[in-house]
Amino acid sequence: MCGITGYIGCRDATPILIEGLLKLEYRGYDSAGLALLDNGTLDVKKKKGRVSVLAEEVDKHPFRATMGISHTRWATHGGVTDANAHPHVSSDGNFAIVHNGIIENYENIKKFLLDKGYSFSSQTDTETLVNLIAYHYEHRTPPDSENRFLEAVRKTLRHIEGTYGFAVISKLCPDEMIAARKGSPLIIGVGKNEYLVSSDILGFAGRASNVIYLEDGQIASITRDNCDIVTVSNAPVDVRVNEIDWELENAELGGFDTYMEKEIFEQPKALENAIRGRISDDMSTAKLSGLNITPNELRQFDRILFCACGTAWHACLAAEYLIEKYARIPVDVEYASEFRYRNAPLDKNTLVFVISQSGETIDTLEALRESKRKGFRTLAITNSVGSTISRESDGGLYQYAGKEIGVASTKAFTSQIAICLLVALYIGRMRDLSFAAGREIVSAINSLPRAVESVLAKASGIEKIAQKYTSYEDFLFLGRLAEFPIALEGALKLKEISYIHAEGYPAAEMKHGPIALVCPECPSVILANSDDISLKIVSNAQEIKARKGPIIAVTDRPELFDGIADDVIAMPRVHESIRGIVATVPLQLLAYYIARSRGCDVDKPRNLAKAVTVE
Ligand code: GLU
Repeated sequence: MCGITGYIGCRDATPILIEGLLKLEYRGYDSAGLALLDNGTLDVKKKKGRVSVLAEEVDKHPFRATMGISHTRWATHGGVTDANAHPHVSSDGNFAIVHNGIIENYENIKKFLLDKGYSFSSQTDTETLVNLIAYHYEHRTPPDSENRFLEAVRKTLRHIEGTYGFAVISKLCPDEMIAARKGSPLIIGVGKNEYLVSSDILGFAGRASNVIYLEDGQIASITRDNCDIVTVSNAPVDVRVNEIDWELENAELGGFDTYMEKEIFEQPKALENAIRGRISDDMSTAKLSGLNITPNELRQFDRILFCACGTAWHACLAAEYLIEKYARIPVDVEYASEFRYRNAPLDKNTLVFVISQSGETIDTLEALRESKRKGFRTLAITNSVGSTISRESDGGLYQYAGKEIGVASTKAFTSQIAICLLVALYIGRMRDLSFAAGREIVSAINSLPRAVESVLAKASGIEKIAQKYTSYEDFLFLGRLAEFPIALEGALKLKEISYIHAEGYPAAEMKHGPIALVCPECPSVILANSDDISLKIVSNAQEIKARKGPIIAVTDRPELFDGIADDVIAMPRVHESIRGIVATVPLQLLAYYIARSRGCDVDKPRNLAKAVTVE
């Protein structure tokens, strides 16, 4: 959440900062701002609204500088106003900061600073941070300190509770930028006589291929030709430069209207990438070297715990069905945000898996850290090479789905489940799953991209169905067994991008409460792609029909819904192991087309932002 970019070099900073913000806008879009520093003048512009509003303002009053910082905000403290937009400037006018995260003890700091005569012009937590830096610079760092600016920031951070990724510049040190992180991502791009700073490599807009990942508790002092890093406790850090694979990070619209649409249609490719190189030569199991775990070690685990948030949590539920079915090992699923605080008792032979598209989700990261502190082996499934979660886990599997920009996750979700299926197959083959069953699943996995493609080919039919349902305000999504997590995900997609109230349930649960909602104004989307209990689901559909609830059936047996469903999305017949993934696609399309015809901004839905890096 929240986009930060910073630039220090020899070129005009403004276009670089604005371009970076435009690339990062999916991470927060309440307001945007930038601060430029030239010749002792700090020029700050900030505006409520999208980056384009800021860009207009910048065009009206241009200011040339070769260093600056910029920000797109996702408000946590203080409303969405010009005053609360970042950058924030210290009350002495000397320092400007952009910050992602939450300063938890900001009220105490604010009281302390008010006593000392500092003043505040916003309601944000961030403004206390920049004023505390100014205070430490002025009163707590001797003027002859070797690097007074860095020292002031370092001293400040010893008093900060909470999370931050920030970049700060100062009139008093016109050739230096300080960046620091704890809990919120921050990356430094290395160029020739220039450095960039960003909360996401996209913010570099292709301008840097070499990057330094700042770790928690580290502070960087960046000049035009040097970057030194120390820890908050003043230990020097060995700077390691990594290379970015820009092909994977490619995030252009490529002819589609929206990123979400593009990403829905990229799913065959994303699935191919998730599977590639991960099938054994005898086509009976998976090859998962990234797990960093020997087959013997893997056999020692009695349970698996999956932790995640949001859509990735639904992928965990899908994993539960797949792993318990094929690997016969019990799986627990936890919301990372709950798990990190609830001190759940875990069996000592538990393997912990976390799933996070961005690899930066703060709750998931903390769940991972808590599991590690307790001595558990941790594995991660993420879509971001080099992300904090991928760096801190003991092993894991990259999704290689390509950058996901649409705030509502689509291709990342299906690719997460595909990877979980590979895990189920791999562990299954070490335990009870037969060679023949393994081969059957492998053949299903290999057919996955084409099966998804065949559903995407029905997009225009699904769009027509969607048109009929744009004005409804309540929906139920019902599915059984492995399709239950998909029902939850279908409901979430619709909520996220169209602001329609929707709930997902196991179809049979409906009678235990949700059926009270059924009426002509509440359509039900019914997933019925599982042979063994299709007839049971048809009975559930009859119960809805009897209460005049409109029904959209998503089924590979359309004939069962003759005279029952108002609309049918006919699905291809696929192996049970991949049904969940394939059944996700029509629900994504349905949500997408409904949201579009309601005029919603699907890539930047209300109140949301990508990569949830605040609690
Ligand atoms: N807590 C800060 C604010 O509300 C930063 C939010 C963000 O990460 O965008 O301004």
